[in-house]
Amino acid sequence: MNIRLNRFPGGVFKALTLSYDDGRSHDKRLVSILNRYGIKATFHLNSGNLDQPDYIASAEIADLYAGHEISVHTVTHPFLNEQPEESIAWEITEDRKRLEALAGYPVRGMSYPYGAYNERVIRQLPAHGIEYSRTVHSTGQFAMPQRPLEWHPTCHHKEMLRYGEQLIAMKGDKPWTRSMSLLYVWGHSYEFNDEDNWDELEAFSQMMAGQPDIWFATNAEILDYQQALQALRFSADRKLVRNPSAIPVWISADDVLVKIEPGALKKLG
Ligand SMILES: [Zn+2]
Repeated sequence: MNIRLNRFPGGVFKALTLSYDDGRSHDKRLVSILNRYGIKATFHLNSGNLDQPDYIASAEIADLYAGHEISVHTVTHPFLNEQPEESIAWEITEDRKRLEALAGYPVRGMSYPYGAYNERVIRQLPAHGIEYSRTVHSTGQFAMPQRPLEWHPTCHHKEMLRYGEQLIAMKGDKPWTRSMSLLYVWGHSYEFNDEDNWDELEAFSQMMAGQPDIWFATNAEILDYQQALQALRFSADRKLVRNPSAIPVWISADDVLVKIEPGALKKLG
C-alpha cells in the first residue's frame, strides 16, 4: 500500500497562513479584513509595547485576536543574537507569561524581532515552551516547515498577490503528482498604512476566499496538523493506522483520500 502524508484538513493539498508582527493599532483594520474572508493569521506581540500610543491595548487583545493566534515577539523587541543568555530567557518567558494571561491559552510560537537569531537563541527556545519561530528569510517556496524553530516564510506581503496566484494555479492533474503546498505570508499591519495599499490585502483576501481547495490556518494550527500527521502509527504492512492525536488527519492510501478520526484505529484498503 502506497501511503502518502500529503493532505491538509478536508483532504486538500494547499494551505495559507499569515504572520504579523509588533501589535500596532493597524492590526484592527487588518483583522477586520481577514475576518470578513475567514482567513487566519498569527500575531506576534511585544507585551512591553502594549498600551503605548499606536499599539494595541491589553484589554483589547482577547477579543481582537479571537479565532487567530497570539504569539511571542519578546517583551522589548531586542536583537536576541546580541543578548546575554539571561536576557534571552527573560524576554521570551516573560512575554509568554504576559500574553498567556491576556489570551487565556498556552502561547507556543514566536517570531524573531528584526529577524535576528543564532544557534544560541534557537537552543533556548524548547526550554521556554516555544515550538516554532518565524524568520524574515523569504524563500519563495511553498514548503512545510522542516525545522520549525527556524520557520522561513514564503514571502513578505508586498508579494502576496503574485504568490497567491501561483498557489491557486497549482493543480496537478493526478493525485500522485500532488504534495502539501503552504503559502506563508509575513509582514506588519502598519506597512499597509504607510504604503497606502490596503486594497492589495482586500484583493488578496477576496481571491483566496474564493478557493475551496485551500485550508486557512494559524501558524500553530499548521504545526499541530503537521505533528498529528507525523504522529500516525502504522502497522508494518501499512494496512492499519492509529491516530493518537486529538484532531482528524487526512492521508492518501493508494491515491485515495482517507480520513482518520482522532483516537481511531483504521483499516486501510
Ligand atoms: Zn518586530
